[in-house]
Amino acid sequence: MKKIAVGILGATGVVGQKYLRLLADHPWFEIVDLAASSRSAGKTYAEAVGERWLMESPMPDEFRDIPVRDVTDYAAIPEEVKLFFSATELQDKQATRDFEFAYAEQGYPVVSNSSANRWTSDVPMIIPEINTDHLEILRTQQKHRNFPRSGFVVVKPNCSVQSYLVAIHALREAGYPVEEVLVNTLQALSGAGYRGLTEPEHRITVNPLIPGEEEKTEKEPSKILGLLEDNKIIPDYSMDMSALCTRVPVIDGHTALVYLNFAEEVPDLDTIKKIWSEFEAEPQTLKLPSAPEPPILIMEADDRPQVHLDVSNGAGMAVTIGRLAEDKFFDIRFVALSHNTVRGAAGGAILTAELLVEKGYVI
Ligand code: NAP
Repeated sequence: MKKIAVGILGATGVVGQKYLRLLADHPWFEIVDLAASSRSAGKTYAEAVGERWLMESPMPDEFRDIPVRDVTDYAAIPEEVKLFFSATELQDKQATRDFEFAYAEQGYPVVSNSSANRWTSDVPMIIPEINTDHLEILRTQQKHRNFPRSGFVVVKPNCSVQSYLVAIHALREAGYPVEEVLVNTLQALSGAGYRGLTEPEHRITVNPLIPGEEEKTEKEPSKILGLLEDNKIIPDYSMDMSALCTRVPVIDGHTALVYLNFAEEVPDLDTIKKIWSEFEAEPQTLKLPSAPEPPILIMEADDRPQVHLDVSNGAGMAVTIGRLAEDKFFDIRFVALSHNTVRGAAGGAILTAELLVEKGYVI
């Protein structure tokens, strides 16, 4: 199969660099365009990134000499590009929304990591194991906004939500709806981008505030778990959430401490483990190249999951769960871990793009 030419918007940042790592030998996609701010535009990728390359392995040679394009220089987009991954924010949310839609208007699918369009009503917020049916709203988006049939915007949710929402979804699917969730997150420095990884003060502290994160964590599941009805996504507010999010001195990997109450029957712990270990969804059935097998991994050892041992399970795409137990105040509690720049950002977006290709949205 001829590879699909893709571009990366925000290619010089932490998530952008992760796209380069993950797509360097991807079976379906080939990067032909790298774009960033006007500060980087006109330089080669290696010059633009300079000392800011933060991946664990060296910059792939094939990208070093590619000239970086300004993300707003639409005239310079290489002709062959068929899809964009976006890992950038402009000066504000509205500017970011407009910029993502400007790409769609020109006929490009955009899979975005930014939060700007997550609550735009005709933009689906996708976790490929949960709500692929929401992709149908793209036809409404195209119609209402007069986009060509090839152009649209799809977004990924917040990076920490992926650590536990697939597990909760699996329980709901098995007939055990969840009523209340209390979640405390321990989020890695790479989640705060280049500054998070390079400013030394972050390495010696636990910061009890990640601005805006608790609101996103409490709100985004309702849209992801929502119902698509009459060309609208109706958020599902049946599950109430309370979140406390912290930044911890860990490089990669968001850990979530989750406590929950079921709405009806409470399954026993063995039943929960069985549901999680047998859970599969469309990415696994379709055997998409980035789909983790299995998507949920259960650890029995009391001291797991641990970031440095488990963050790369399933090539960074699996959710690893441990410490499942009954709780004094809630029905159950558990610890869940996922890789924030892989599952929570670039890898999750690549899996979404694979789904879009498989379902015929990328033309
Ligand atoms: P980052 O390391 O700070 O990188 C930001 C990127 O955006 C760089 O390529 C930068 O280009 C570009 N950029 C900055 N200002 C710009 C402007 N005004 N116009 C055009 N380009 C501009 O950030 P990151 O962590 O990669 O995050 C990127 C996006 O992904 C953000 O929306 C973030 O919320 C989201 N996200 C991040 C994570 C994570 O774990 N890090 C997870 C999920 C979602 P220059 O190098 O030229 O300045």
